[in-house]
Amino acid sequence: MSRATSNPALLPDPSSDALPELDSAELVRYSRHITLNEVGEEGQRRLKHASVLIVGAGGLGSPAALYLAAAGVGRLGIVDFDAVDLSNLQRQVLHDTAGIGSKKTASARARLHGINPHVEVDPIDAELTSANALQVIGEYDVVLDGTDNFKTRYLTNDACVLLGRPNVYGSVLRFEGQASVFATPDGPCYRCLFREPPPPDLVPNCAEAGVLGVLPGLIGTIQATEAIKLILGAGEPLIGRLLLVDALRMNFRTIRLRRDPECPACGTRELKALIDYDEFCGTANVATPRHAGVRDLAPRELAERLRRGDALELVDVREPYEWRIARIEGARLVPLGRIGASIAELPRDREIVLYCHHGVRSLAAADFLAAQGFDGIWNLSGGIDRWSADVDPSVPAY
Ligand SMILES: [Zn+2]
Repeated sequence: MSRATSNPALLPDPSSDALPELDSAELVRYSRHITLNEVGEEGQRRLKHASVLIVGAGGLGSPAALYLAAAGVGRLGIVDFDAVDLSNLQRQVLHDTAGIGSKKTASARARLHGINPHVEVDPIDAELTSANALQVIGEYDVVLDGTDNFKTRYLTNDACVLLGRPNVYGSVLRFEGQASVFATPDGPCYRCLFREPPPPDLVPNCAEAGVLGVLPGLIGTIQATEAIKLILGAGEPLIGRLLLVDALRMNFRTIRLRRDPECPACGTRELKALIDYDEFCGTANVATPRHAGVRDLAPRELAERLRRGDALELVDVREPYEWRIARIEGARLVPLGRIGASIAELPRDREIVLYCHHGVRSLAAADFLAAQGFDGIWNLSGGIDRWSADVDPSVPAY
């Protein structure tokens, strides 16, 4: 058996006797799997024995559920309390036009049974909350995070850490996506990367943030691949690595992640109960009016002003892992989630130029500082990405 030793089985390794048998129709259905040394008949029986909880039957959960069902994962839980909407169909390929208005869990079950009647589908037509998350997640071997909001993402991460369930993470925005595997015994968790959710009034309105429909197809399929690898104990999972996908450049890169010893979830373990954060989109912050004091600054103008020696405070509001990839010389790092706590450290006697990856997060930070009475706040339009393109190509684009 040529199963890679770098992926020791994270799931309980049931003795071969405990694994369910495959009937002749299943042997035919999965024959292209069984031929693979890394799967084989035993691996296929492991898949049949396994259960995966898919949090969110949306853009990421759709391709993940389709492939996990086709692959013969024995039991799939689908958590979603929404109904199918016309605007979902551009990317949520689990649902179809005839299903508009019906519950996503019902639409998902019908489609998944159509693909593979051997798969048991648990429709969980509810919102994941601090009251039910441990119970729901505890019933499954692997969790696949297909959520589109911070509230559920932190809840899912924290419950996975507390229960010791691997959390196959994915997220998408515009033309970019990320994936990783969190909350394994030795690997980092989502909070190691993003310690706290940003305050609700600093999150841009989600309704305005578009996404290329095929992108969640890519990322959700990567998540399904990782879930299958965890079940089989095959290959090298994305543990301790963050995959960054840029669909416009069609650029894939992975960066190393370390477990943060100060992480309240998996490091210090001071986080012992689940937290229901405020809803970030749609309720707490439908539309934040743009503050009049904020002005846009093009990267070339910033370069010119720096060349002139203007006294500017350059503040990078991205996350530490992004800072490790690329930064503008002379900047200081204040991640968006910490900006409220860092107000006292920011100068009020000189102009502040804020930047992030593309200019969205920095605009939220700029609005926030302007509302706090800061004068002379600039937002670097296009972010470090445009800085790299227009001013300094030696700054890596990512
Ligand atoms: Zn952690």
